Amino acid sequence: MPTDNELFSSSSASKEDKKKKKKKKKKRKKYDDDINNNVKNNNNMSVKKFEKMGLKEDLLRGIFAFGFRKPSAIQQRAIVPIMSGRDVIAQSQSGTGKTAVMCIGSLQNMNERKRNVQVIILSPTRELAEQTTAVMNGIGDLMNVKCHACIGGKQIGSDTKALQKGVHVVSGTPGRLLDMIRRRLLDTKNIKMMVVDEADEMLQKGLKEQIYDIYRNVPRGLQIVLISATMPKDVLEMTDEFMEKPISILVKQENVSLTGISQFYIAVGKEEWKFDTLCDIYDMANVTQTVIFVNTRKKVEWLSKQLKDNNFLVSSIHGKMPQKERDKITSEFRSGKSRVLIATDIWGRGIDVQQVSLVVCYDLPSNLELYIHRIGRSGRFGRKGVAINFVKNDEIKLLESIERHYSIDIKEMPSNITDYL
Ligand code: AMP
Repeated sequence: MPTDNELFSSSSASKEDKKKKKKKKKKRKKYDDDINNNVKNNNNMSVKKFEKMGLKEDLLRGIFAFGFRKPSAIQQRAIVPIMSGRDVIAQSQSGTGKTAVMCIGSLQNMNERKRNVQVIILSPTRELAEQTTAVMNGIGDLMNVKCHACIGGKQIGSDTKALQKGVHVVSGTPGRLLDMIRRRLLDTKNIKMMVVDEADEMLQKGLKEQIYDIYRNVPRGLQIVLISATMPKDVLEMTDEFMEKPISILVKQENVSLTGISQFYIAVGKEEWKFDTLCDIYDMANVTQTVIFVNTRKKVEWLSKQLKDNNFLVSSIHGKMPQKERDKITSEFRSGKSRVLIATDIWGRGIDVQQVSLVVCYDLPSNLELYIHRIGRSGRFGRKGVAINFVKNDEIKLLESIERHYSIDIKEMPSNITDYL
């Protein structure tokens, strides 16, 4: 029999407990209300310092050690909602720091002491999946967190080995990830967060079925974070099917993509005259680092051969190259060993090389969205950048539609162009 004292203390303890619970509930409700208001008011809640986000100490130190001092706009708004465990849609262009949003959110929510796969991140290209892996391992270094990239074009055996050693995060392309899950090489039972990066791009690439299949193989009720530059119908559908009352965070397009990037066109007349125009501006391209976009793989190969035959130094990349070669070319470009890269749009999304300050659209992109992704390769994180579009006589209307869509004025390239770099 408990004594009166014990009864008293237990009843007062339970009263205390109740009070605490009530207070916690109230706090939680206030938090939810704040977040819901945030959804309504779009972006009202922003935490302007990493130190004020309530992050784990090793994570905070990791962020600073990685070289970040102050969160970017999307980081100020999206990290805390992700930390709350709610489903989140962050609408943001690449170049605004969204990789760190995914990484910091995942690192905060995981149990780093348990070495099992707790987070999966799906990306549309292998390069992007590898880039995210590097950022995750960098920021999570002091937490001893391991992230592994599971991407196509590489031996599945090396993935198996890495997973057997134990990793916390897997960042991959949907095809390889699904393959690993189906072969039961990737244990899904401890996964508590799934991040879909560049969701709009993945859906455009027809990866919907694979994403849905992966979703069917992860535990019910896990947290979903979706990053998308735009919100087309397919992405909204995905949101309805997968997500539980998601918090939406929008960063206005104008704030994001175009500040700092000076955009020009050169009227090249005909296709045949583009090459000479490029040779004319090559010296400028080689001084900074430059990405030259064309629309097809064949053209990457053709242009690269033409330039090399004319003794220009260039490297080139497209999706049909063996992965090893793609990795080598990307890493040489990142290190600055190669300075001019000819690419298809596999390079147009998300790839981050801060030194790139010039983008040349040798061909105008085949759709409006691609434009912003291409030119976003320069001017990373608020740096200065220049984009030059080659426009044929019959493409003036296309250029005008880009101007209208983004409410921008693309002027003819001036003679003092180097002043802009
Ligand atoms: P992302 O949009 O994730 O590709 O990031 C674009 C670039 O911004 C990358 O080079 C990041 O390293 C950099 N970056 C992201 N967040 C920050 C930050 N808070 N402070 C400084 N640089 C950042």
